[in-house]
Amino acid sequence: MKMKAPFLPPMSLGLRCLKNVGTTRIESSLLYSTTTAQKYDLVVIGGGSGGLACAKEAAGYGAKVAVLDYVTPSPHGTVWGLGGTCVNVGCIPKKLMHQAALLGKSVKDAAAFGWSVPPAELQLNWHQLVTAVTNHVGSLNWGHRVALRDKRVTYLNASGTMLDRHTVLAKDRKDVETVLQTDNVVLATGGRPRYPTFAGAELAITSDDLFRLRQPPGRTLCVGGSYVSLECAGFLTGLGFDTSVLLRSIPLRGFDQQMAGLVVSAMENLGTRVVRGSEPLRLERTAAGRLRVSLTPSGDGQPPDEEYDTVLLAVGRDPDTRRLGLDALGVTTDRRSGKIVTDPGNRTSVDNIYAIGDIVQGAPELTPTAIVSGRLLADRLYGGSSQLLDLATVPTTVFTPLEYSCVGLSEESAAEMVGGDDQLEVYHAFYRPLEFIIPGRDTSSCYIKAVCERREPQRVLGLHFIGPNAGEVLQGFAVAMRHGMTMESLRQAIGIHPTSAEEVVKLNISKRSGRDPTVTGC
Ligand code: FAD
Ligand code: NDP
Repeated sequence: MKMKAPFLPPMSLGLRCLKNVGTTRIESSLLYSTTTAQKYDLVVIGGGSGGLACAKEAAGYGAKVAVLDYVTPSPHGTVWGLGGTCVNVGCIPKKLMHQAALLGKSVKDAAAFGWSVPPAELQLNWHQLVTAVTNHVGSLNWGHRVALRDKRVTYLNASGTMLDRHTVLAKDRKDVETVLQTDNVVLATGGRPRYPTFAGAELAITSDDLFRLRQPPGRTLCVGGSYVSLECAGFLTGLGFDTSVLLRSIPLRGFDQQMAGLVVSAMENLGTRVVRGSEPLRLERTAAGRLRVSLTPSGDGQPPDEEYDTVLLAVGRDPDTRRLGLDALGVTTDRRSGKIVTDPGNRTSVDNIYAIGDIVQGAPELTPTAIVSGRLLADRLYGGSSQLLDLATVPTTVFTPLEYSCVGLSEESAAEMVGGDDQLEVYHAFYRPLEFIIPGRDTSSCYIKAVCERREPQRVLGLHFIGPNAGEVLQGFAVAMRHGMTMESLRQAIGIHPTSAEEVVKLNISKRSGRDPTVTGC
């Protein structure tokens, strides 16, 4: 396959400005010509985790590829560069702020280890933190651009709309339009935070704004009980802000609820206030410039009105598909979620149009799954592969101050799968991370659980770990889980001493035994 031709000069065909022309279509009195076709093998709409991975992999096989990426400003006007949610307003800035909060805690711990750290001198400079995070993100934006150039992928900082199944209209910030003709299209436009409909909701920010706030957030309410809300509340508390979580129902829906309860109680022990059983009714700006939040009655005595400096909405994300022109093309979406329905090979209801990442119905909203599905799709389209993404054992970590990582099933789902609790053997341990002992940190939520089939050889169906560096601990076990790890193989493994991870291979007390699962001694 040949590499891209240079862009053609603009043509005036009733458009404000039209650069690359490739096919014929009449829409809203706009005419696009086919005569000077700028043809691609693949056009990827969305330059985030999945789209970039797919584009680079496809280019590696010699396909002629273009990627369109365009960030619509958040309602508060926040914008960012190439790389999608993870790089700009997700995993990366979140993990860096989590790390900043952990460091603050470690500096306090240091006194117990003999360092003289005057507590009064420990002050967070929010502006410096935001600058450091934004600079790192900027370097990643640049790295992605260079990587596309090196792979000879055409990058357009433009919003993509499908005119027909082989034609994509790209419109940039200045409304300059480019028409691309392509054999295949991959939709990878990710999601954006959902704004609920209560009065004044637009006064609240979302995770799209938090990591670039010019002013420190001050007293903050995080609305929602899942990953985004708990993670943001966790690091904001750790950074010294008075932070509350508004939990309308259960925390971390879909996760093992014993573990979720421990995560929340660890957060409360570290200073996050949790308001349970309530939702926002109304948000209004006070004369003093603060935000007054009116809540539905909670039943646990919370005042119905409270003032905050910042309200962060983290109530879920909606697929960013509005501008794609899916309806006109007949691409099937799920009625409730609005996500795109695909077959296991990521093909939509239109056979040369594929979808990957967060916009796919039923796919986990996680970066590694978006990346792998993008790569595997390119391998199938251009590399002769037939391999599909296997979602059976996808590990994940919730980066609350005390991290929670898991792979496989929750105890609840495992019981359902095997036909009841009686068919399960659950091994567990409360342990004390060595580094927590001298500074006297609370260890009551440091807990490990292996949910196994009761029948031999006791295949591990779910592995759950709460403690420091939980994601680092569980990544390797996730590999073993993929290969059918059993309790016997876990027991045969030799631990690495002294670590928290070794407590996983030392698990030996089952819930059924009723024995005290607290690890004592070395
Ligand atoms: P995205 O990365 O969202 O990329 C989509 C891109 O397409 C965006 O740049 C968007 O602007 C662009 N776009 C949209 N419409 C158009 C259009 N019409 N034309 C051109 N471009 C368009 N996952 C983890 O695995 N670990 C974590 O720790 C983690 N932390 C997170 C923290 C937060 C606060 C959030 C919000 C998410 C987090 N995630 C995490 C989830 C992860 O970021 C997403 O699952 C991942 O980014 C999805 O990748 P994607 O390729 O589907 O879409
Ligand atoms: P989720 O969809 O996971 O959760 C939404 C939360 O908001 C739920 O707790 C829900 O409660 C609550 N909620 C919904 N509406 C309201 C309301 N009106 N008032 C109060 N609470 C409400 O969304 P997130 O935004 O937390 O995360 C989106 C996805 O991003 C995650 O599923 C995850 O895949 C990904 N992500 C991954 C991370 C990681 O890997 N570490 C980190 C961050 C995000 P209820 O349960 O009652 O419906």
